[in-house]
Amino acid sequence: MTAYNTNTHAWLLHGGTAAEREKLAGEIAAAAVCRGSEPPCGVCPACVKAAKGLHPDIIRVEREEDRAAIYVRQIRALSEDAAVAPNEADRKVYIVPEADKLVPQAQNAFLKLLEEPPKGVCFVLCAATIGSILPTVLSRCSRVRLRGEEEFETSPLLDAVVRGSEIEKITAALSFEKLDRAATADALTALWRGLADEARRAPDPAERERLAELADFTADLREKAAFLSSGSVSGLLAAKLIDSK
Ligand SMILES: [Zn+2]
Repeated sequence: MTAYNTNTHAWLLHGGTAAEREKLAGEIAAAAVCRGSEPPCGVCPACVKAAKGLHPDIIRVEREEDRAAIYVRQIRALSEDAAVAPNEADRKVYIVPEADKLVPQAQNAFLKLLEEPPKGVCFVLCAATIGSILPTVLSRCSRVRLRGEEEFETSPLLDAVVRGSEIEKITAALSFEKLDRAATADALTALWRGLADEARRAPDPAERERLAELADFTADLREKAAFLSSGSVSGLLAAKLIDSK
């Protein structure tokens, strides 16, 4: 089994499938509470409890039923809980399976915890994509990118951006206006990957260069999207697409 650096206090697992992220998060959490010599040993009582989801020092922070996001009050509660010593292990681990569902306010509350983590506390954040996670949060985490099995597929948005007429390009850019922050980040991620893939496959060098540049622009826009309104994202993308024919 992989040995994890149990001194790391904040992990961010992204990419891959939800099941893959969940599995790795479980292993990291087990390693943090393990009593064996090579954590996670998989056989000590702590590892067995962790595998069954019964370890009292491994705590999951999830969306409440019928809620679309994880709110700041949940992170405040986590913060209070984190100040209390562990029950059985030397460490307490908080797993956030859908860190991309943390609203910005909740992320800022989380940031305080990451900046001054309570003694012995470890956080494992998981996210399909990191576009909606604040750069300040990202910079405090050890990031692990999982390779998913997701195959590249051409979306109508990508198709319009790459092959569309000017009006189709603008319409594609304007479609971002209707998206919320998380959906914007996801759409930009998909667009960026698609463009990078198209760039690799383009036979014409000039077209390859144009698409690669568009891909870079989209990646950059995705990083900034956490601070921009959907209208701004849409406007910046439209301007870029008109500029790059
Ligand atoms: Zn163990």
